Amino acid sequence: MNHSYKKNVVIIGGGPAGLGAALMLAKRGWKDITVIEKRPSADYYEPDKSFSYQIDGRGQKLTDLLELTPKLADLSVPNTDFYFTLIQKDGTRKTTKLPIVDSKRKTAYWLPRASFVELLYQEILQHWQDSIQVLFNIECVEIKQSLEHLEIITQSQLQEKLTFVPNLIVGCDGLNSIVRQTLHQMEGQSHFFEMQKFPSPSSGLKYKVLTLPPQFPLSEKEGDVAKSTMAYAIRSAFKGRKKAISLGLLPLKNQKIPRSANIITYPDHQIWQLETKEEVEEFLKQAFPQLPLEKIISPEEIARFTSSEGGKFPIPQYCSGLYKIWGNPENGQGTAVILLGDAVHCFPPDIGQGVNSALEDIYVFQEILAETNDNLSQALPRYQNLRQSDIKALIRLAQISYPWQYNQDLVQKRLWSLNFFLRLLLNRLLPFIFNPHSFLLIQNHELSYSEILAKSNSTTQILLSLGGLAILILIWNFLT
Ligand SMILES: Cc1cc2nc3c(=O)[nH]c(=O)nc-3n(C[C@H](O)[C@H](O)[C@H](O)COP(=O)(O)OP(=O)(O)OC[C@H]3O[C@@H](n4cnc5c(N)ncnc54)[C@H](O)[C@@H]3O)c2cc1C
Repeated sequence: MNHSYKKNVVIIGGGPAGLGAALMLAKRGWKDITVIEKRPSADYYEPDKSFSYQIDGRGQKLTDLLELTPKLADLSVPNTDFYFTLIQKDGTRKTTKLPIVDSKRKTAYWLPRASFVELLYQEILQHWQDSIQVLFNIECVEIKQSLEHLEIITQSQLQEKLTFVPNLIVGCDGLNSIVRQTLHQMEGQSHFFEMQKFPSPSSGLKYKVLTLPPQFPLSEKEGDVAKSTMAYAIRSAFKGRKKAISLGLLPLKNQKIPRSANIITYPDHQIWQLETKEEVEEFLKQAFPQLPLEKIISPEEIARFTSSEGGKFPIPQYCSGLYKIWGNPENGQGTAVILLGDAVHCFPPDIGQGVNSALEDIYVFQEILAETNDNLSQALPRYQNLRQSDIKALIRLAQISYPWQYNQDLVQKRLWSLNFFLRLLLNRLLPFIFNPHSFLLIQNHELSYSEILAKSNSTTQILLSLGGLAILILIWNFLT
């Protein structure tokens, strides 16, 4: 078998999908893989991107393949040890252990995004430097067609330009992917590479992150400090949709790194209208009288928070086109392009599947490369056929599974809880008829997203039919 074609790859984007894809290809024997990343380093700290990932069984299909799961476990808090403390405005606290609903499920691991990306990067440095080079501080600024090839033009911070003519381009450059946008422009009238958007009650919510010291004090009492491995929800003294806020902290294994407190709320919330650091400081002091804020948040951090743009949860979206091929990339006379991760499916973090679905994309691509002996002209159409329906189902699941968890609307949140527990109860009583809520089914990595959506829809149909029947019986009884 001639494997000379398994080389000359450019991956745009060195996030979880980009570095994961580079490692997968190197493990399959591909050489000459270049990752282009515009950030300065793998563990570059961006306060407003300092969220935590929960790598579940789905994401672990890839970390198992790369033999990285034990190292991942070492860096993380397992969900089996997930403790959560709710701190009320008067300082009262209640700690609960997150219930593990399905004990047969694989342990999931919580760790900060930067730690996960650094884990993948260190694996490249330690074992794959002969196949993979990662170029930081370099941005892909243009992709041009030249006969049967595509040319990638990059620019460094010093304005130096570099051009690549790869056989395989892997677009792992996130939501605003230049790779996908270029394919969309090249397709002309077709909408194949255009993102299709679907509404969700959590999209558009604004978030910012407050960075707190590792073991910050919870009160004036000596030794009363936050535990790194503990998750916290700290409620404010304010009431009302435009004033009440909450600080949300996820667990962290490393006791030396700062904690990220997420503030997630409507874009017209009062906190986003504050313009000076003095106004923000006063707002936080009044909001959280239970915390010794002056010991927790430095004036510099308040200034950074005030001037930060923050971010907005994206609208659930996907594009149907996952690949395109020019010429014959197997003979080195053409370019194949594949899109993975947020570049083709993106949604708010409600279901914790952003990174897991990206890692599963890579795992599925790997399985198809194995079936086709790495022949891209066969593998890419097969990948698209197989993955397209799952991506579509994933976006629907992102819309319906748990969009009300950010306390946007208490009535909707209660209705969601009612629906969740009704399905759980019915499933326990009659498992062959009723499925649990999709939010629970997603945790089962052995089910594809399409299977999960089908199960969820079938239970919805039965519940609607039973509801309709109950209404008919009531009307009948009323009339007779
Ligand atoms: C607030 C928030 C919270 C989230 N929480 C979770 C969560 O709890 N769990 C979860 O699973 N997911 C979460 N996500 C989603 C998750 O971050 C993404 O799904 C995941 O990062 C996708 O990985 P990716 O590699 O495809 O894209 P990204 O992580 O976006 O990586 C893309 C990379 O490409 C680089 N890049 C982009 N354009 C270029 C270019 N032109 N040239 C060079 N480099 C480029 C970027 O710098 C970046 O490093 C969250 C997202 C947000 C916004």
